[in-house]
Amino acid sequence: MSEKVLIIEDEQAIADSVAYSLAKEGFEVLTASDGTQGLALAEAEKPDLLILDLLLPGVGGLDVCRTLRRTSNVPIIMLTARGEEVDRVVGLEVGADDYVTKPFSMRELIARVRAVLRRVQPEQVSPDGILRSGDLEINTRQHLAYRCGQSLRLTLKEFEVLRILVAHRGEAVSRKMLLDEVWDGVRYRDPRTVDVHIRWLREKIEENPSRPRRILTVHGVGYKLVE
Ligand code: CA
Repeated sequence: MSEKVLIIEDEQAIADSVAYSLAKEGFEVLTASDGTQGLALAEAEKPDLLILDLLLPGVGGLDVCRTLRRTSNVPIIMLTARGEEVDRVVGLEVGADDYVTKPFSMRELIARVRAVLRRVQPEQVSPDGILRSGDLEINTRQHLAYRCGQSLRLTLKEFEVLRILVAHRGEAVSRKMLLDEVWDGVRYRDPRTVDVHIRWLREKIEENPSRPRRILTVHGVGYKLVE
């Protein structure tokens, strides 16, 4: 079955050329020209990936991203214009997985789409690839995480941060290392992005997220996972 990509973009020429290129690559393509329509389509069609323009009339890209993230882990690639550095950081903070700056080549965009999909797709399982720490279990091959046997709903970035913390359990992991590993290739990186993702992870795995007992803050360094 081909993967379904939803494009939310108000500039018709861009939407058309992205849709055309993706369809030619064998993707099933849906398009929306504003945020409201995009959210409705995302809800109804459950796409495998979203390409989301930052500047949309009405409900903007960041709000679309934020709204989706309340219920969905769908991979999101944001489209931004040059000079929107700050918005890009905010984009990653609200849960986008990657972004592409306009103007971009179709080849570049399709490469990003494939890379993001590859990271989220379950691969053939092998008995290895399982990391454990206390009640947490990370299946690195399948990109699945469990707490007390219950599946955790994590975004791609949250999963990667947790995977690294579990792999280095008991050790302080620096913000820089997390940025380098998880946000590799993202040109404009801000340590606050790490902090925001840690906060979300705590909400998902801590009994009391405001008094974390699993993911501890190591002042001046970063974070440490303890059992
Ligand atoms: Ca736009």
